[in-house]
Amino acid sequence: MSTPAIAAHGLRKSYGDKVVLDGIDIEVPAGTVFALLGPNGAGKTTAVKILSTLISPDPDSGPITVGGHDRASGAQEIRRAIGVTGQFSAVDGLITGEENMLLMADLHHLPRTEGERVAAELLERFDLVEAAKKPASTYSGGMKRRLDIAMTLVGSPRIIFLDEPTTGLDPRSRHTMWQIIRGLVADGVTVLLTTQYLEEADELADRIAVLHDGRIAAEGSAEELKRIVPGGHVKLRFTDPDAYRTAATALAHGARDDEALALQLPSDGSQRELRAILDELDRAGIEADELTVHTPDLDDVFFALTETTTTTPGTNAVKESVR
Ligand code: ADP
Repeated sequence: MSTPAIAAHGLRKSYGDKVVLDGIDIEVPAGTVFALLGPNGAGKTTAVKILSTLISPDPDSGPITVGGHDRASGAQEIRRAIGVTGQFSAVDGLITGEENMLLMADLHHLPRTEGERVAAELLERFDLVEAAKKPASTYSGGMKRRLDIAMTLVGSPRIIFLDEPTTGLDPRSRHTMWQIIRGLVADGVTVLLTTQYLEEADELADRIAVLHDGRIAAEGSAEELKRIVPGGHVKLRFTDPDAYRTAATALAHGARDDEALALQLPSDGSQRELRAILDELDRAGIEADELTVHTPDLDDVFFALTETTTTTPGTNAVKESVR
């Protein structure tokens, strides 16, 4: 086994009485994507800031290595090996995208012509050529994020921290960002990203850690995490209360939602199980107005793990009957 690109054990951070990270373990093999998943305030940015040496962990925190360098003794080396982009964006709105890139090249001590070449190449790669001569303050959210990542890549980092790279972006920009991240990984870069979006973790990450109450509530591949929750279900909705009541009697093993006139039946979503449900409805002489099949996804995992404090109307109703 090669040394992980990022490793932290017993990572702790408190602000006064408030424990933000209560001893978390993170290990990211080189060339993989690791997603730290959690709602607002879960401590994701705090973890990224500590790993990228921007702030210190608590004194009783365990060891941290990034790019083979120990955080305690080799913070400088770590800074040279990594790129960080996120909510604390490095983009200067007063100057143009191109000037931002050249500034970054200067910071990396690239010779003038080399800096210009790298800047031009990255602006092209991130579809910013047209906008390059305009002040960055005029850019859309998606363009700013792209510029931010382009600036990070000037130093050719092998390890990149992306703090909520798509928060606030429209769906198209989000997909563009996913493509960019996949491209980085294809080049062998290690990525630690934080996200509030389960779909994003599912799309991008080799491993996902769910951060909750300062601890990692669960960790694994998307598939492994999905196995935490029991199987899926079929939901039948009715508009006619009589039809609903007849169905509820015929399919007595279903969970009832009398208010919504909906029945939820445990099911693996297979053709055989669906047919059995439809046959029962036929025998009772009723037709559902809507039938949906739900296979477990990361949302289920997330709510199963965090439901003590996370209440999203509707989703909880689903949770109740999954169990
Ligand atoms: P996330 O990135 O998951 O939204 P953060 O890491 O930004 O979460 O914040 C985690 C918690 O730590 C929040 O409750 C936040 O208020 C608190 N926090 C973050 N930075 C500070 C600070 N400098 N001083 C006090 N509390 C902080």
